[in-house]
Amino acid sequence: MSRPEVLYPLFADLTRLTGIGPKTARSLEQIGVTHPRDVLLTLPYAGIDRQLRTSVLDVALPTTLTVAAKIGPHRSPTNKGGAYRVHAEDAKTTFQIVYFHARADYLKRILPEGSRRILSGKVELFDSIAQMIHPEHVVEEAAASDIPTFEPIYPLTAGVTQKTMFKATRSALQMVPDLVEWIDPAQKDQADWPSFSEALQGAHSPTTQDDLATTASARERLAYDELMAHQLTLALARAHVRGGTGMRTEGDGHFRERVIANLPYKPTRAQNRAIDEIAEDMAGPQRMNRLLQGDVGSGKTLVALLAMLIAVEAGGQAVMMAPTEILARQHLEGLQPLAMDAGVCLDLLTGRDKGQERRRKLDALERGEIDVLVGTHAVFQSDVAFADLRLAIVDEQHRFGVRQRLALGEKGRRADVLVMTATPIPRSLALAQYGDMDVSVLDEKPPGRKPIRTALVSSERIEEVLERLRVNIADDRQCYWVCPLVEESEVVDLTAAEERYKRLRAALGAHNVGLVHGQMAPGEKDAAMARFQAGDTKILVATTVIEVGVNVPNATIMVIERAERFGLAQLHQLRGRVGRGEMASTCLLMYQAPLSERGRQRLEVLRETEDGFVIAETDLRMRGYGDLIGTAQSGVPRFRVADIERQSALMAIAQSDARRLLADDPSLKSARGQAARILLWLMRQDEAIRFINVG
Ligand code: ADP
Ligand code: MG
Repeated sequence: MSRPEVLYPLFADLTRLTGIGPKTARSLEQIGVTHPRDVLLTLPYAGIDRQLRTSVLDVALPTTLTVAAKIGPHRSPTNKGGAYRVHAEDAKTTFQIVYFHARADYLKRILPEGSRRILSGKVELFDSIAQMIHPEHVVEEAAASDIPTFEPIYPLTAGVTQKTMFKATRSALQMVPDLVEWIDPAQKDQADWPSFSEALQGAHSPTTQDDLATTASARERLAYDELMAHQLTLALARAHVRGGTGMRTEGDGHFRERVIANLPYKPTRAQNRAIDEIAEDMAGPQRMNRLLQGDVGSGKTLVALLAMLIAVEAGGQAVMMAPTEILARQHLEGLQPLAMDAGVCLDLLTGRDKGQERRRKLDALERGEIDVLVGTHAVFQSDVAFADLRLAIVDEQHRFGVRQRLALGEKGRRADVLVMTATPIPRSLALAQYGDMDVSVLDEKPPGRKPIRTALVSSERIEEVLERLRVNIADDRQCYWVCPLVEESEVVDLTAAEERYKRLRAALGAHNVGLVHGQMAPGEKDAAMARFQAGDTKILVATTVIEVGVNVPNATIMVIERAERFGLAQLHQLRGRVGRGEMASTCLLMYQAPLSERGRQRLEVLRETEDGFVIAETDLRMRGYGDLIGTAQSGVPRFRVADIERQSALMAIAQSDARRLLADDPSLKSARGQAARILLWLMRQDEAIRFINVG
């Protein structure tokens, strides 16, 4: 499918716009503005009042103002670099127009002595004389209307001026076609929104400060259009996954009962609720596409196991993918005994399985002899075939975007999909990131968890910290030591980690200290982890590879160096590695003094709460969404107009609107459906078009 013709003008070359030549076009490309469409969606962020005043005395100075004046004599600078002054007289007083480094002949031409001009620019008092410095507008009185009474101010990039942007937006506005409305009429009426083209006109022609607010109806409508396009993409992806021939997977519960009977504890209410929701989805005719969200330690693994057993009870298979080798192995170790007791065959497949061994596993899998496969992304390689795959689980995939999820869904054509994440994200972000999925939340932790004491310590007090570790080692307890995140580069982090490792070995005894980092050979990494898990090493120095999921109940201290450099959510995840056993645990957030006030406040949030949601919300508030979203990693798109922090309610409306539209018109054939296709093209969501149900 190709772009609809009515949108051609909006996707034409930038140079088609008045005032934009190849050079300006290249500058605009730097800020992602490549077509008239982008110019239109680059909205002014401020405005300058340029209403005509009678005199510079009418407004409190300094300020930007517009005034009509009679031009008097010119005076060239008396010294090099001095000011060029032009005398001027408005209805009440005289003032000076001031230029630096100006060309006299040019100024004489635009400001001829004895003429009348409308001038607009910043006026300030200097030695009690009002001065207008480098006026932004100088026009003849007859052309007064050339100066907008409220001038929109655009975000700029080097090489592009406000005037250029103004002219370009005006000419782009003339290219906007009349489009059939895609918004639900009831929604549009209720919100009292203008049409798309009126909204663009309005957003680019503010007349007051209020028109610049996100709640101004023109801007709100455009924001909604962006959110709607995004949610429509998610809804299409969702329909794509759920649609087609789903399988009804229902178990009789016998494996689940056996596993639960063998557990030393009872599932929490939240775990039971999540399992019920999953079981219901799996039993339904549509494919499951569900997110299981639960803070660290909330017990997602048990939910995953029980879900996989449903698949096995139904005579099928299940697969669970972990993000790292370490975690895959840990899942194997945790789950295999439970599976074995129940009589279920569970095996591991990772990139390290090679040759014969790998072949053997693949054959067993294809014959259906392996019921549950656990592994890394190796489990989704093209030659891995299942006899009857019913359920695919992805653990800790908060770094996955909707595209990757779709790719994964494509693997097991009809298998149900469950994604698990430990990142507690605020609702607005969840909607943006996981709007295609149904969500189950584990909002309750297993009982009996000891609170973790969290303290802030300056790195100058490292000796005291080491002393604590000595006591800890003597008590036969263990400790994680996470090294600073110096840069986004594992290599740089590594040097820091190796350095720390050496020093801790010297201070605490070489045999007590282990090291694990992302650059280690796989076997070495496992061995280091295994030694720590067995309690042979007491201190594990690590880069953030231990961030997700590692479980060592005997570890009771978590030291995080340069904690001020980590995100709060990440610190929370790291802290979740301790407090898993019977003993009280401590998390020491080591910072490099001096810590800024804000930095301290941030870290104190962790001291005050262990609630991942509170931490995530606070983190977001303090850092702003900008930091979190828009990065390829987060899976959250960057919007040009919409502000998902403040417009999460709109996002929710867009989600239900998009889902309803697709339910009524799955192939987007109705008039509104066709209009929605245009919206997708317009908002560059054309990849979504391929998911439109052709049936
Ligand atoms: P996460 O959600 O971080 O993946 P895990 O599944 O690793 O959490 O569970 C953390 C710990 O809690 C594990 O040691 C697990 O055995 C234990 N656990 C899970 N469910 C319960 C429960 N209902 N009661 C007590 N302990 C539980
Ligand atoms: Mg886990």
